[in-house]
Amino acid sequence: MIFLHYILPLVLFYFLRDKLMLLGLLLGNLIDLDHVYYRIIGKVGWFSSACSSLGKECSIGFYPLHNPYLALLFCLGTLFLFSKKKPLRLCGWIFLGAFIHYLLDALAFFSGVMI
Ligand SMILES: [Zn+2]
Repeated sequence: MIFLHYILPLVLFYFLRDKLMLLGLLLGNLIDLDHVYYRIIGKVGWFSSACSSLGKECSIGFYPLHNPYLALLFCLGTLFLFSKKKPLRLCGWIFLGAFIHYLLDALAFFSGVMI
């Protein structure tokens, strides 16, 4: 179910037909690159979880880009959506995409299902 990060923007695009929104929401998922970074530096095994002691996949609070302070920053960054300038609106969509990413990660953590 990890594909929900990518399916949700596509579903929204189906209804809203906004390419800038689709691009921004998909780019917001790039915060998951910290998972790759931790595996490259060997802090987490390639096929294991960052918190294997909990017995499930988790990311918020375990990876550098998955922290609550950045979530708050990204939430505030969604105010750029109200800008008239297209590059700033794209930033707003990216921030919203990253914030939605956090919500889905948190939902996955608390439900125990990989979303
Ligand atoms: Zn994530």
